Amino acid sequence: MTDRYASFVQSGPGRALVKRLGLPDPPRLRRHRPGDPLLPGPALVGTATGGRLAEPVGRILRAAGVEPTTDNPAAADADTRFGALVYDATGITESTGLRQLYDFFHPYARSLHASGRVVVLGTPPEQCATPREATAQRALEGLTRSIGKEFGRGVTAQLVYATADGDAGTEIGLESTLRFLLSGRSAYVSGQVIRVGTGPAAAPADWDRPLDGQVVLVTGAARGIGAALARVLARDGAQVVVLDIPEAGDELAAVANGIGGSAVQLDLTAPNAATRLADHLVARHGRVDVVVHNAGITRDRTIARMNADRWDQVIDVNLSSQERINDVLLERELIPRGGRIVSVSSIAGIAGNRGQTNYATSKAGVIGLVDSLAPALADRGISVNAVAPGFIETRLTARIPLALREAGRRMNSMSQGGLPVDVAETIGWLAWPASGAVTGNVVRVCGQSLLGA
Ligand code: NAD
Repeated sequence: MTDRYASFVQSGPGRALVKRLGLPDPPRLRRHRPGDPLLPGPALVGTATGGRLAEPVGRILRAAGVEPTTDNPAAADADTRFGALVYDATGITESTGLRQLYDFFHPYARSLHASGRVVVLGTPPEQCATPREATAQRALEGLTRSIGKEFGRGVTAQLVYATADGDAGTEIGLESTLRFLLSGRSAYVSGQVIRVGTGPAAAPADWDRPLDGQVVLVTGAARGIGAALARVLARDGAQVVVLDIPEAGDELAAVANGIGGSAVQLDLTAPNAATRLADHLVARHGRVDVVVHNAGITRDRTIARMNADRWDQVIDVNLSSQERINDVLLERELIPRGGRIVSVSSIAGIAGNRGQTNYATSKAGVIGLVDSLAPALADRGISVNAVAPGFIETRLTARIPLALREAGRRMNSMSQGGLPVDVAETIGWLAWPASGAVTGNVVRVCGQSLLGA
């Protein structure tokens, strides 16, 4: 679906009108193209006194082809336009030390390229040695979320809490996360708090093919987000198994043929669907490294007007079928060590939504699934995460009445809806073998929507 307003705004006459009337001004977002440099300009890296991450961050940036400017920021050329501002705030142990954030960001608040990136690194508050340190580290969230709302022009801002108690997977996880957040892959992700912990991880031989050799299952892949996801994962090197209902067989076959993947026609609510899927995976691949639970439906009504069928269908497709599949695949040990489960939730599951009690219940349940399954599977080296999309331009959102649709599109820091590829790129990063230390996260792909913020 196209956003006609955004296209108009980017035209000559549109620009003039938007300026004169003070209308929302959706910027053109920088999106990933293979071979692109990670950033449109140099990265300015700052460190609070006593920070522990400056060295690994410098190493990671250099490996990604970005020369960090780490000298005294005040010495940098006033005209330099940066691709990113990265700040290691792990050294801040007192609220009085938060002043260092102001000192770093104030002079450079107008020095970022359009679609530039702000990343602040902190220590998870629950790991801090003193209540004062935990307080200061928790405060970082307010800074990053506000920068996401202030800077505009497609700039995104995130907080990454990196464990102080890392293993070999932690630095690889920090690298995969920085590579994702700095690149155009994270175009529609802003105002997020991401936790990098521990877990088995392997850096790829080629960061442009971070999923080489991985067998990935995508449910609901005939169209929309699932189809975009299948294409992104295949582009990044995965062998992709796409699944959808038999009625969508033609569309599904077209997706599978386009990426050299295989197709499974299966209704996830059919009896024994999980067992049949497991049998197929065993026969074709012997395993599945990454399971993406993307299939989802809406059956909207207020709860007063909703019949029980609408309730049951939505809970079954969006939540219970995920549990059944996980159970069978885990029981039969088809997801190996280093495996990934990624589920698609929704901001409706975070904020709630009028007319969507069934849908929001199912999507909040998906978050519960991540919270409970991630620690339970840590010993098996399997990560569990979810993405929570906001307003994404698909057939699902095309059905929303016009006024509500416009509100959904504009009420976020990007003043526009996201594209299926934005959700796909985020799921892709969570699926990378390099992202094993990223587990138990729910990452919103919502352009920093005001809903549930
Ligand atoms: P879509 O309707 O375009 O695609 C969903 C796919 O799931 C369809 O191909 C459908 O046939 C398939 N599916 C439905 N029931 C199935 C079943 N029983 N068995 C197998 N396949 C089944 O929707 P989309 O917008 O691409 O959404 C994908 C996911 O993202 C869903 O989980 C949705 O809830 C979620 N989401 C979407 C948005 C958005 O703005 N589009 C926002 C938040 C969350």
